[in-house]
Amino acid sequence: MFKRQLRGLLDIIYPPSCAGCKKPLKNTHGVDAVACPACWAAIKKNRPPFCQRCGRAIDWKVSGGKVCKKCLRKELHFDRAFSACIYDGLTKELIHKFKYQGHDHLSSTLSGLLIGFIREFNLPPLEYFDLLMPIPLSQKKLREREFNQSQLLACDLSKEFGLKLCADNLLRVRDTKTQTELPDERRFLNVKDSFALSDAAAIKDKMIILIDDVLTTGATCSEAARVLKDNGARTVFALTIAS
Ligand SMILES: [Zn+2]
Ligand SMILES: [Zn+2]
Repeated sequence: MFKRQLRGLLDIIYPPSCAGCKKPLKNTHGVDAVACPACWAAIKKNRPPFCQRCGRAIDWKVSGGKVCKKCLRKELHFDRAFSACIYDGLTKELIHKFKYQGHDHLSSTLSGLLIGFIREFNLPPLEYFDLLMPIPLSQKKLREREFNQSQLLACDLSKEFGLKLCADNLLRVRDTKTQTELPDERRFLNVKDSFALSDAAAIKDKMIILIDDVLTTGATCSEAARVLKDNGARTVFALTIAS
């Protein structure tokens, strides 16, 4: 609450500027309140064909298959992943503000990108799924950040599509180092055994979509998917704003 009031005050002293080009914004309502129309239009969206594991755009002629080169070399426990955008430019800037600078109001702008992607490609095909599960934060991180960015996104998607939100079953049982500080190969070790379930029976035979903000190596979603699958989940997809 205090953060929100402070931000309102700061908006008066420093009028909002575009998160992309940093120029002052004329219209401060809706999407225009975070970026100018030119920067918003330049957001790089993910387009098919998608890698059948990580969901990044793939050039079949180059890769020679349906899975990208990166995914061939590693074991990922989710069945498929999808991301609305490429983790770059304005998208990266907005996610950073959302996660690390307390701009929780950006959740609706960012979940809007996810909603647009789902509606355009019907991916993931929500009609087959039972649950939306946000990637949880550790208690320590949740206290520091005051909100779980993935839960805000999952909540918006749940409201939009009427798919059940399950935010209290998957738990983060171990505080881990921030993945961004680690080289790729260390990320899988860093998150190992960091998830558990409070009610394993509730996910048996379920079709689950994990929600997170960014997919880079896929280590976090993969480890969460491993726990879900080990406990009987039938299918686990991951959905992120960007990768
Ligand atoms: Zn701009
Ligand atoms: Zn891939």
